[in-house]
Amino acid sequence: MKCPYCSNVESKVVDKRNNDTDSTIRRRRECLKCEKRYTTYERIETDLMIIKKDERREPYNREKLKIGIQKSCEKRPINQEQIEKMIDDIENVLREQSTAEIKSNLIGQLVMKYLKKLDKVAFVRFASVYKEFDDPEDFIKTIRDVK
Ligand SMILES: [Zn+2]
Repeated sequence: MKCPYCSNVESKVVDKRNNDTDSTIRRRRECLKCEKRYTTYERIETDLMIIKKDERREPYNREKLKIGIQKSCEKRPINQEQIEKMIDDIENVLREQSTAEIKSNLIGQLVMKYLKKLDKVAFVRFASVYKEFDDPEDFIKTIRDVK
């Protein structure tokens, strides 16, 4: 991020806000050199690649993740804000990884970790889709683990 006034690249973030409609992060930044403030709109999808189970790669997509979580949370007492917060937390964990290439099962595990705390029904729904249980025993075991 370059300062539009003096082109200095060092800045500090003074305010951060997520934009729900197009999954951009709006940041107010203050240039460390000229101390002027400016706004940046950043998309995190562009820097993260997801490696799927079959080794295919695709850019991280917040919307896609959100839809998957929303499906699991249908008719559950979970509001949109909680889902956004969960995805923010997950994205923070993803950004802390040493690589920009993220295995898809890491995301699945993170979602399950958060849903487990938030709502058991949503957790089991998500787990049953995500884990694609072949064996009914595995499914029963997962449900048992929740309790
Ligand atoms: Zn500046």
